[in-house]
Amino acid sequence: MKASELHLKTLKEAPKDESAINAQLLIRAGFIEKLTSGVYDFLPLGLRVIKKIEDIIRIEMNNLGGQEILMAALQPQKNWEQTTRWKTFNALFKVKSQYEQWYALGPTHEEVVTPLAKQYILSYKDLPLSLYQIQTKFRDEPRPKSGLLRTREFIMKDLYSFHRDEQDLDNYYEKVKKGYLKIYQTMSLPVILVEASGGTFSKYSHEFQVVAEAGEDTIYYCPHCGFARNEEIIGDLKKCPKCGHQLEKVKGIEVGNIFKLKDKYAKPFDLKFIDADGHEKIVLMGCYGLGISRLMGALVEMSHDSDGLIWPETVTPFKYHLLPLLSGEAKIDKAILKLSKTIYEKLIRQQAEVLYDDRVGVSSGEKLVDADLLGIPYRLVISPRTIRNNSLEIKNRKTGKTKTITAATLLKNI
Ligand SMILES: [Zn+2]
Repeated sequence: MKASELHLKTLKEAPKDESAINAQLLIRAGFIEKLTSGVYDFLPLGLRVIKKIEDIIRIEMNNLGGQEILMAALQPQKNWEQTTRWKTFNALFKVKSQYEQWYALGPTHEEVVTPLAKQYILSYKDLPLSLYQIQTKFRDEPRPKSGLLRTREFIMKDLYSFHRDEQDLDNYYEKVKKGYLKIYQTMSLPVILVEASGGTFSKYSHEFQVVAEAGEDTIYYCPHCGFARNEEIIGDLKKCPKCGHQLEKVKGIEVGNIFKLKDKYAKPFDLKFIDADGHEKIVLMGCYGLGISRLMGALVEMSHDSDGLIWPETVTPFKYHLLPLLSGEAKIDKAILKLSKTIYEKLIRQQAEVLYDDRVGVSSGEKLVDADLLGIPYRLVISPRTIRNNSLEIKNRKTGKTKTITAATLLKNI
């Protein structure tokens, strides 16, 4: 893609009303825009990252046997009354239509997926069943302040599983746990598995947390064996219950959580099946959430420097950032632009993801500053110095290492 087509515009200063690093950098680099407090628009570069994250997640959900669906965000009040969560769910976004009907803007979808599953599940032969979606969700947050880490509107993947007995639920839960770890690993995001409250229906749930100062959760973590538990259920535990080592108190960004719901939602919606013995039994459920826009924020918190963003290769909007740096001397500049165009077209033909800074009237200094800010993994610079040998300089954004190679070598090694 050409930077001129992208209408790339970056900001030198961070917006004054953003204190979170992730929002500051993403807004400055033109990935997102703030519409209002806790509500962001995703611009072309930002949406490319979101789509990459979604694709990584989708592969794993399909591996887990999940069927992708898309449920409604606008949910009737009666469904939420049925589970009593209309009154008890703290951050539920409630809207009243002009025709006197109340709705919830879905923060989660148990109230929709459970009655929906009744249409699929009649007998034990219909189990297990896994349904997932990637969707916009809402929470009526009082004071969003952490950029993409806590918003009123966000993109999330939620998976729901349905089982005939506890054993089947337990097995699936462990599989999902492994699948989640694979997702974070693919994004080069270091996470720890944290025990959290299982609510009234299960002893523990599990959270996937990124240890970071920007996090809003407090975790007690054992650096010796990796045990970790969320502060809300830790009590006055000082030593690791697994190995006896002193626990460390750290801040975490929650980037995923998994729950064994058991019969919590199956009961109010009367979700039952006929087992092999002919008896009617309650269906057991699990739910597994993964915040996609929050993940994008967490990736930025974990991978940036004072110059800007540093994207891991698997989620970057583009792999290469091609920069022709001009000299002002017509003959040299003509050669630089010619080689840049050739390389760009060849990269495109090889289906490499490349952003070509073809902007006119933008200085070399500005192009280099913007390249650091955008954080694309490989910067390809064609300058008056490199053009003499028909070569270019390739720079790794993460390590800062540079190498001069010929155009032919580059194209051979894409
Ligand atoms: Zn330990």
